[in-house]
Amino acid sequence: MEEKTIQIAGSITVDELATALGLSVTELIGTLFKNGIVATINQRLDYETAQIIIDELGIENVKLERKNTSTKTSDFHRELSDKAVTRPPVVAVMGHVDHGKTTLLDTLLHKKTVDDEAGGITQHISAYQLKHNDRLITFLDTPGHEAFAAIRQHGAMLTDIVVIVVAADDGVKPQTVEAINFAKTANARIIVAINKIDREGADVNRTMADLSQHGLQPEEWGGDIVMVPISAKMNQNLDQLLDMILLTADIEELKADIDIPAEGLVIESHMEVGKGSVVNLLVTGGELKTGEFIVAGNTYGKVRTMLDWQGKPKGKATPSTPVTITGFKELPSFGDRFIEVKDEKTARKMALLNAQAAADETASANVTSGDLLRMMNVADNTKTFNVIIKGDVLGSVTSVVDSLKLIDTKGEITLNIVSTGVGDINENDVYMAAGGNTVIYGFNVSVPVNINKMAARDGVPVRTYKVIYELLDDAKHEMENLLDAEIIEEDKGELKVLGVFRTEKTSIIAGGEMLTGDVKPGYLARVIRNKKYLGEVEVTSVQKEKMDVNVLVAGETGGLAMKTTSKIELAINDRLKFFTREEHKKSL
Ligand code: GDP
Repeated sequence: MEEKTIQIAGSITVDELATALGLSVTELIGTLFKNGIVATINQRLDYETAQIIIDELGIENVKLERKNTSTKTSDFHRELSDKAVTRPPVVAVMGHVDHGKTTLLDTLLHKKTVDDEAGGITQHISAYQLKHNDRLITFLDTPGHEAFAAIRQHGAMLTDIVVIVVAADDGVKPQTVEAINFAKTANARIIVAINKIDREGADVNRTMADLSQHGLQPEEWGGDIVMVPISAKMNQNLDQLLDMILLTADIEELKADIDIPAEGLVIESHMEVGKGSVVNLLVTGGELKTGEFIVAGNTYGKVRTMLDWQGKPKGKATPSTPVTITGFKELPSFGDRFIEVKDEKTARKMALLNAQAAADETASANVTSGDLLRMMNVADNTKTFNVIIKGDVLGSVTSVVDSLKLIDTKGEITLNIVSTGVGDINENDVYMAAGGNTVIYGFNVSVPVNINKMAARDGVPVRTYKVIYELLDDAKHEMENLLDAEIIEEDKGELKVLGVFRTEKTSIIAGGEMLTGDVKPGYLARVIRNKKYLGEVEVTSVQKEKMDVNVLVAGETGGLAMKTTSKIELAINDRLKFFTREEHKKSL
């Protein structure tokens, strides 16, 4: 059978999909109908729905492919002209938490930043430049915790070289593997810095062996990965590491055109009082100058001020240069591509077109896979966890949202993000959350006193965090609380009633013989007569030869005092089947 690929940009109409699959529209509508979707010929289906339908129809020779229509990082490949010039490498330092990324950048920059960080974790992507052998190297300081997977993924896309920091006394850890995978996905060159070699317990060879098990073969062992043993703290071998970075950059022949309109990526954005939008950009092509008009996603602006990474004014930024600018009308999103345009009118028009394209993409799919799965899943017992996310910058909001989505809820909880935004928690957030069982999470933002009062009055939980994994832990905990507890019952033993001494409305005293197992105070029992269930009792005390005891076992006779919720007329020969019941809170 001939293989066929259908490209889907955002969504596809029923008509288009039917044509592409060589089916009649009625046939396709029929299949959708069988899956609980009433569709018309012009209805748009998203990628996942189309895929599910294709699977449902058992079509095997058709492959669906997502066509990327965004203007984001991934489709950022420009053919270079002959006039392209060498540019500095863009390097991201990644690795497991506490393996020494911050210390490495710190020592490299002779700048102390470790102490300023909340929870000792780098919270935002930032960029630095340093000079080695008279050549510039651009570093992206990517956050360390796994929760920042999203940012790091974007980070990797901008990156030519990933320096993976592995502590020689700890070896390869989950985030090391993640970093390796990101580097590979981003097609970046990998250099490994085996750190903390000054430490007792550091074992460079073992770390190398560990790394080669994860697909990174050291050059020394005939592989192709440069591994430099370093001590970030003691400033050992760092020059060698920088040499290797430059060597790798030379091999890669990193170049960019400069006589084209400036372009690049948004790597951070936030609002500042008195300045408006403050946006960090990494220029990837052309030269960006103050006074120029730029567009990023659905916003645009005129570069009002431009500073280098150290906060010094900069008139012109060449490729691989990180800069901070003001002048965007609204905050562009993290990872948005920016380009320079000739005037304000063009900028406004392009931003509008981008906004429309983005709106089309989300709005056009009027049947999503979520709907489809919901419809297929008749008995949907999932619970919903509603959240509002506020953060200090867009990058952190994106990270929090992405990380929340990564929490595995085992299909039992649906995460519903009511809204997200940059800035302090405000009245509107509380309004939105009120009455809706919604938790407001703030990341690196504050809650004005009046808002706190308002939230308390309306019973809206407002929680702010400075460290993302604490926020995630809380969210996980909240979700666990939504889960129904699991009830576990365990059979314990059986007694045959030989005499009933007293029966009151809510209590019984009786005696009998233990046939199997045991009975202890606190056990529950089902009362059974001729295989029929009469009710449930709770054992309050156990007696043997008129003495209170802790247990009565098989073969023994004794007396029991029991509690009931409704009167049970116990009779000779009834059976009491003892059991315990525990509620187990489910965890995620
Ligand atoms: P990050 O989470 O990867 O950014 O790790 P940090 O840079 O914050 O380092 C974590 C801890 O390891 C800190 O206490 C550092 O002082 C320590 N550390 C980092 N590099 C070295 C090193 O080369 N030698 C030693 N002995 N300690 C180091």
